[in-house]
Amino acid sequence: IAAVAAVPAQAGGDPTYTNPNAPVDVRVNDLLHRMTLDEKIGQMDQISVVNMQGDCQWSGGAFTESCMNDVLVKNAAGSVLSGGGAGPSVNTPENWATMVNTVQQYAVTHSRLHIPILYGVDAVHGHNNVLGATIFPQEIGMGSTWDPDLVKAEGASAARSVAATGIDWNFAPVTDIARDQRWGRYYETYGEDPLLSGTLAAAAVKGIQNAGGAKDVAATVKHFAGYGEPGNGHDRVPGDVSLRYLQDTLLPSYKQAIDAGARTVMVNSGAINGIPATASHYLLTDVLRKKWGFDGVVVSDWQDVRALQTSYHVAADYPEAIAKAVNAGLDMAMEPYDAQGWSDGLRTAVQRGLVSTRRIDQSVRRILTLKFELGLFEHPYVDASKADSRVLGADTGVARQAADESQVLLRNDGGVLPIAPSTKKIVVAGSYADDINDQAGGWTVGWQGVPDGVTLPGTTILQGIKKAAPSGTQVVRPSSDADAVAQARDADLTVVVVGEKAAAEGAADSPRPELSADQQQLVASLKATGKPVVTVVVAGRPLVLGDADGTQGLLMSWLPGSEGGNAVADVLFGKVNPSGRLSASWPKDIGNEPLYYQQLPGTNSGPESSYDAAYPFGAGLSYTTYGIDSIKAAATARTRDTLHLTVGVTNSGDRAGDLVLPVYVSQPSSDVLAPARKLVAFTRVHLGAGQSRSVTLSVPPSELAVTPGDIDGAGPQQVAPGSYVFTAGTRTATVTLR
Ligand code: BGC
Repeated sequence: IAAVAAVPAQAGGDPTYTNPNAPVDVRVNDLLHRMTLDEKIGQMDQISVVNMQGDCQWSGGAFTESCMNDVLVKNAAGSVLSGGGAGPSVNTPENWATMVNTVQQYAVTHSRLHIPILYGVDAVHGHNNVLGATIFPQEIGMGSTWDPDLVKAEGASAARSVAATGIDWNFAPVTDIARDQRWGRYYETYGEDPLLSGTLAAAAVKGIQNAGGAKDVAATVKHFAGYGEPGNGHDRVPGDVSLRYLQDTLLPSYKQAIDAGARTVMVNSGAINGIPATASHYLLTDVLRKKWGFDGVVVSDWQDVRALQTSYHVAADYPEAIAKAVNAGLDMAMEPYDAQGWSDGLRTAVQRGLVSTRRIDQSVRRILTLKFELGLFEHPYVDASKADSRVLGADTGVARQAADESQVLLRNDGGVLPIAPSTKKIVVAGSYADDINDQAGGWTVGWQGVPDGVTLPGTTILQGIKKAAPSGTQVVRPSSDADAVAQARDADLTVVVVGEKAAAEGAADSPRPELSADQQQLVASLKATGKPVVTVVVAGRPLVLGDADGTQGLLMSWLPGSEGGNAVADVLFGKVNPSGRLSASWPKDIGNEPLYYQQLPGTNSGPESSYDAAYPFGAGLSYTTYGIDSIKAAATARTRDTLHLTVGVTNSGDRAGDLVLPVYVSQPSSDVLAPARKLVAFTRVHLGAGQSRSVTLSVPPSELAVTPGDIDGAGPQQVAPGSYVFTAGTRTATVTLR
């Protein structure tokens, strides 16, 4: 195999690719023609320098020369990542920026053609890698806001912080649909509904990629596709889905986020229908490139190319695994620990004739295009001295709003909330009331959550309640669970905060997603005092409450981040009128799981009977009362039309509030099973006390299209002619499509 000859710079002139005024494709072509095959192979590799053991560890403010040279020059890696934080020695924004600048500078200065690297991190709820950065609610909580503008603002805030630390690639948003409460990454998603997830992921992409920070940042739609369908509830396991379910339920959210302009896609680590996604030509080329026209960079997840050989056994050796992935459509391998292995492997695959140099050029072209478009050749570095001021405590107002809007009030018997100003004594029980680290969840400073010995800056729920309580209200923190019960006996109210420990990925899998026995016991004992109890849940998924069920108040706080304590207090004391709505179904019993609202109708039961949730998808109370007065639509339309629904809403109570307004569709009869309701449009409407408004929502044909045909049918989606019933609250409008 003849390596492509390197073209030297024109005598007396700078090479075209260094000219910022030349069009990007011209620059890419010029650079590509100068590169050797080995340099191209390197561009397709992403290495974890900072997490690497041995002499690549960042220590004392430096990497060793031999490590940098090996990764960035000898193997010419095109990208570097810090997965799940960078370890205790990189603990300030300035440190981060210095570290990233150091890596970048080595690549730019020492690589033959001075090609900058792309540096990636997972900033999935704020720049969660950096101690002192504002920590937003995890995605499951953002999902419960139903607020795309807010999600966009969160994405932009995270991207500005990421950019301030020199980083240009954010592995967010998680765009997977989560329907199995056992799955450890449930909390990283926007929940169970395709439209809600897709709309919010699209908003996140726009926020991340238009943040106006110190650098441009690329977003990542991950994990393409079907990562949220783990067959047995564990992370990274094969899932079997019908092509109908794949097309109609799993793919749409990724499509929406890609249509929003996402520059990169990360591949699902799992296998779908017997094919690892990393080796799926169908997913990575037929759907993503050909059908959807995606022209950005596709990166694998962690060590997944190697996994084709070592875990999935669909390749006999590493070169064969690489060939499978690259020929399926992969552009870059997250091959964190082995730059040399990647170079040797892909070179061998080329020598064996398994991968063409043309295919390599195609991927390198995409990677270089991204680097030019992000402006990396002109602005590879950031000013590290500005990083602290740009990151520390940034946008806490946005994070507070996000935490406020993500609180879901599920029970408020007898109007126990908001807490009356005359309340004399409140007991704040439960270990999660005063644990800022668990309140933030996994992927916070460390991969599995905030590391031991480090405390996240922010406000715990106990601190929030103490701050917000009126001067005449005594807030008591019991010394133990037994003391809590004793104190509750003469208190006016007990707020008990229960939850789940922070964890990530497989470590967060739970075969029994329920509240632990000791926490159930505590709440049951508090209930037995006969005094009012409000339960606050700090967790990344609905937890079956068991004996803890049935307290007067129930607030799902999710994993609300560094402003979470303030947000919970805002809702408890009524400063904020709760507006969150569940983005996930809450099962009554673990035996009902996996549970999601789009259950298909069965033969022996009514359409609704298979969905019996403790709190259904979309549930959430407010301190005011809303009426949905009417829904209107044209009686007939064509199957290709976008439908416009006009909904009349009223705030009939005496407090202003934000109403989350979902519109669902059902079909009285259909050839293909249709769920009893499917979300097709939603909005948030602000309504003053007593105010009425009329809002118009659009339903594009894509929301009604389903895969037609018999069991073997997997043709393109179509909108079937017939009758469609649109429901808002209890109001309905029927549209006949022709
Ligand atoms: C996760 C990805 C993440 C990557 C880099 C993987 O383990 O599955 O979501 O982007 O690590 O940190």
